[in-house]
Amino acid sequence: MKFNRAVIKVGSALIAPDNNGCSGKYILAIARFITECQKAGKEIILVSSGSVAAGRQLIQHGSPNPSIPTKQAMASVGQLKMMANWQRFFDVPCSQLLITHGDLKDRERYINIKNTLRILLENNVIPIVNENDTVATDELKVGDNDNLAALVALVSEADSLFIFSDINGVYDADPRSNPDAKLIPEIQSITPEIYAMAGSTNNHIATGGMKTKIQAAEKAVENGINTYILNGSDSQVFEKLLKGENPGTHFFASTEFTKAKKHWLKHTLKSNGKVFLDKGAINAVVNSGASLLPSGIKALLGDFNAGDSVELIDHDSKQVIAKGICQYSSNDLTRIQGKNSDQIQRILGFCPSKVIIHRDDMVVIAT
Ligand code: GLU
Repeated sequence: MKFNRAVIKVGSALIAPDNNGCSGKYILAIARFITECQKAGKEIILVSSGSVAAGRQLIQHGSPNPSIPTKQAMASVGQLKMMANWQRFFDVPCSQLLITHGDLKDRERYINIKNTLRILLENNVIPIVNENDTVATDELKVGDNDNLAALVALVSEADSLFIFSDINGVYDADPRSNPDAKLIPEIQSITPEIYAMAGSTNNHIATGGMKTKIQAAEKAVENGINTYILNGSDSQVFEKLLKGENPGTHFFASTEFTKAKKHWLKHTLKSNGKVFLDKGAINAVVNSGASLLPSGIKALLGDFNAGDSVELIDHDSKQVIAKGICQYSSNDLTRIQGKNSDQIQRILGFCPSKVIIHRDDMVVIAT
């Protein structure tokens, strides 16, 4: 199993097992796995549930199904416990991102989240994402962290999504009632039959069940992201993963996606401006697969916002060589063109990204 950037989702049942607040019982092995991945040069983003479960003991409730404000108070106190529990198993720093569906739907905030994640990874920090439960109302909520993890995998352009819970993967029948049920190791396409095999959750502290995991897998694979459902309570699972084996259910990424994204960038997305490059920048973009830095920009044309698409043009021949999504508006770019990335902060007073167009957001048209 090959991957470079993965989102790892850890469910409440692993964070706060035994209905007794946070514990290291399972997450120690997960943290070790993450550390091994990082040593091998891989980038990891965590999506961690468990704030409500971790705060449950600390807020009076007296009902198995507390009210929403009570759960929000549990999330508020539990989030800190959950973060502290993770941090004690890592030597590298952890960071907290609390987001709602409303944030992911808003274009500007989406780009902010994307840039923040990129910078955290560049600085060897482990981003830990959860839904902002204390402020999110139902309309603004993703609702479960399986789907949230899929959205985080999209925004961070991960190539893999690992969903860890206390189940081994997808079975062809309910393993609780059918001893002959078999684990399905590989799923090439998600059909209604696959959904039909997914029972509902049987764990009272978890929000999602197999259904939300399959929904998450569907979102991810459609976007070119390999997805795995794995048992994070079984330490052998991590040994197998590190050997490159698949110990759970692997949903295959759609190969159509990369082609489709490049096609969309090249043919569908309308350009709002032109950015003229010197020879060095053209060489870096075309031959080295590099991102575009401000230093190689000679001139600009057009009015565009951050997040708009622009054409990259050879300043000498005026040939269009690439297209991509620009991290800066034309107003800001005018002030930093020709400068080094390290000067962006001083000139603009902010620096959401050291690159002007990230490699993942670019398609080369002519060489
Ligand atoms: N955001 C919730 C929490 O931290 C978890 C949601 C889920 O388990 O899917 O408690």
